[in-house]
Amino acid sequence: MGGTAMNERFRERMSDAHVRADTRTVGDFVGIYCEGNHADRVRAALQSDAATLGVYTRKTPVLCDECAEHLRYAEKRRAYCARDPKPFCAHCDTQCYKPDKLAWQRTMMRYSGPRSVWHGYAIAGIKHALEALKYRKQHRDA
Ligand code: SF4
Ligand SMILES: [Zn+2]
Repeated sequence: MGGTAMNERFRERMSDAHVRADTRTVGDFVGIYCEGNHADRVRAALQSDAATLGVYTRKTPVLCDECAEHLRYAEKRRAYCARDPKPFCAHCDTQCYKPDKLAWQRTMMRYSGPRSVWHGYAIAGIKHALEALKYRKQHRDA
């Protein structure tokens, strides 16, 4: 970040509808996690490159500093993801996340995945469950 001009490749990747949708989904999930676990912290609307590009439309996640940092990292990983079609990161063999970021992401998804359904993100929650099933099936058949 550092206040410099946005990376052109990031901007270009974020113009892809799938990349935008996935980024929004992760943003929703991080928002649920932060709301449920960090309600005692100072939280504010995310400031990030994807937010600047309007990726979150009117639902910019409200996050603490720690969660905001993780989501900014996830935005970049999603933008530069080498997998197409892309699995959920937690189920990915390629794994471009640093180990500590991956551990955080898994904890966050375990919390937010099931709760996303009650929070009105039924589609994202169901999609997540289907991807997990598909992943397990592929690995069983492999
Ligand atoms: S972990 Fe895998 S699916 Fe997730 S962004 Fe990295 S390469 Fe793509
Ligand atoms: Zn938080």
